Amino acid sequence: MTLDAHWTRAFIERTADVVTESRAALVELDREIGDGDHGENLERGFSAVRAKLATQPDDATPGALLKMVATTLISTVGGASGPLLGTAFLKGAGALGDASVLDADAVVAFLSAARDGVVLRGKAEVGDKTMIDAWSPAVEAASEAAAGGATPATVLRAASDAAAAGAASTEPLVARKGRASYLGERAVGHRDPGAQSSSLIIQAAADTAEEA
Ligand code: ADP
Ligand code: MG
Repeated sequence: MTLDAHWTRAFIERTADVVTESRAALVELDREIGDGDHGENLERGFSAVRAKLATQPDDATPGALLKMVATTLISTVGGASGPLLGTAFLKGAGALGDASVLDADAVVAFLSAARDGVVLRGKAEVGDKTMIDAWSPAVEAASEAAAGGATPATVLRAASDAAAAGAASTEPLVARKGRASYLGERAVGHRDPGAQSSSLIIQAAADTAEEA
């Protein structure tokens, strides 16, 4: 699929579907090392996003649609993840400007600005057991793929695979940011919920990009 506004809408809708399907699993992860609300937080946010998507003008650009996701998440999601993911979408959208189609470099620019936005807001580093452990390897894999001449969809698939591995890599870690950091060693053996949901979001982008 060409990564245009049509794809952007499909990506947003797929993300909302996946968040709904994964709600219980994300709640369970957050129950283990947080306060058990991550799945609910994201579902609240993305169901508001889904409702707003239907009211966007026909000529809305990818950047405008993704900015709507950002402002909606920031205003509707309680918890740490709302402002963090909201900032990711806000900065990512900003990197796209008013482009009507994303090429491979634009995909990298989106992911990279999104990751930088989360870092700016939350000050986490790789290995702190946060969503950054999914976003950062995604950016690196996307950059490498784009530098090697990959298509936008292939760049997103590389990012998605790296984000999934990054989310899994949080399991043995002690958390240094967020609620899980209060648990010390007790967080070991549990996957970070925000890393998992960020991986699912990037996977939704890759899955929709691969559709004809
Ligand atoms: P809360 O922790 O307020 O209940 P959520 O449960 O919705 O919010 O989100 C928790 C997730 O937020 C964590 O799993 C982690 O990935 C992410 N997170 C928390 N603090 C930070 C931070 N400073 N930087 C990056 N991500 C963070
Ligand atoms: Mg929580």
